[in-house]
Amino acid sequence: MSAMILDGKALAAELRAEVAVSSKELAERGVTPGLAVVLIGDDPASKIYVRHKERAAQQCGISALDYRRPADVSQEELLTLVLELNADSSVHGILVQLPLPDALDATPILDAIDPAKDVDGFHPDNIGRLAQGRPRFVAATPKGCMSLLAKANVEIAGKNAVVVGRSNIVGKPMAMLLTNANATVTLCHSRTTDLAAEVKRADIVVAAVGKVDAVRAEWLKPGAVVIDVGMNRNADGKLCGDVQYEKSLAIASAITPVPGGVGPMTIASLMQNVVTAASKALAQQEPG
Ligand code: NDP
Repeated sequence: MSAMILDGKALAAELRAEVAVSSKELAERGVTPGLAVVLIGDDPASKIYVRHKERAAQQCGISALDYRRPADVSQEELLTLVLELNADSSVHGILVQLPLPDALDATPILDAIDPAKDVDGFHPDNIGRLAQGRPRFVAATPKGCMSLLAKANVEIAGKNAVVVGRSNIVGKPMAMLLTNANATVTLCHSRTTDLAAEVKRADIVVAAVGKVDAVRAEWLKPGAVVIDVGMNRNADGKLCGDVQYEKSLAIASAITPVPGGVGPMTIASLMQNVVTAASKALAQQEPG
């Protein structure tokens, strides 16, 4: 058996094309979707992520509004910027690129974003809504993982799903999405005592750890569907995921590659959220 490759690059291109159509329709009704991109400091990886997001926005007919501030910006200045963006009607989505420099506390900044503009889906209001099964904005990476599963017609209801990693931006929302889709979900983390045994029971495995070989191929149940969120460098400096990819091809029924799997889906899902935010804002303006 050789696993089906879940091609995130191709699906992301499809989704971006759909988003571009929606943006055009919105523009015809007088609204250009606007994404405010807040980048603090000079972190090279953050700069690359922001560039990719801005390029995707351009392809989708979304206007990316750049707000760059030096690493020594104060907490108050950043908070003020967020409040100004909340009040700016040309801004439909606000993205604060993480991580912030050490001197800044990300939590109050993210909490200050208007939940209706929280296209990253990190605001407690949006996470709470997701937990209750009535999502508004879902964090882009887990949303992209769900789109990959849907595109491959993977049955989720009644299946055992194991999510490895419990961060607020990937693992936890992913576990909630799978729960909402009626999987039986196990959420693993660094204190899980027998990760191999947990993974062995999984029909669907989502790895979001950030460590090379965190999930070993021999742990997989034959026929498992594997979504690899991890982005790591191996000993040769090559980009790779958390799961042993080559060896898993013979065991899994479907798997995402790294690169070309979840990464492009994250950006496309963010664009979907921006257009949704703009549509909702327009619906509120238009008479009943
Ligand atoms: P975090 O570092 O915030 O979380 C990592 C999680 O992995 C934690 O919950 C941690 O457990 C758990 N963990 C660490 N070691 C082990 C272990 N040995 N066994 C089981 N669990 C373990 O990372 P993120 O969620 O932000 O990101 C995870 C990975 O996904 C990274 O490689 C990141 O680069 C990538 N990523 C990729 C994106 C994409 O678009 N492709 C987007 C976002 C992230 P504990 O909670 O106990 O510490």
